[in-house]
Amino acid sequence: MEKMICPHCGKKFRYEEIKNIVSHTGKEMAIVCPYCDLIADRKVSHGYFVSTKIIEQN
Ligand SMILES: [Zn+2]
Repeated sequence: MEKMICPHCGKKFRYEEIKNIVSHTGKEMAIVCPYCDLIADRKVSHGYFVSTKIIEQN
């Protein structure tokens, strides 16, 4: 589980790589911001990325 900041809306979210062991070729997969639904980044993955909102705790 890693964190990143969306370049579009500036909010912080977590993303997790879900590895798909059936598919053995790595390709660029989009990491989609859970706040604004835009592509925040692309990384080479053997699966896909799931992003989740970070609930700020005050
Ligand atoms: Zn965003």
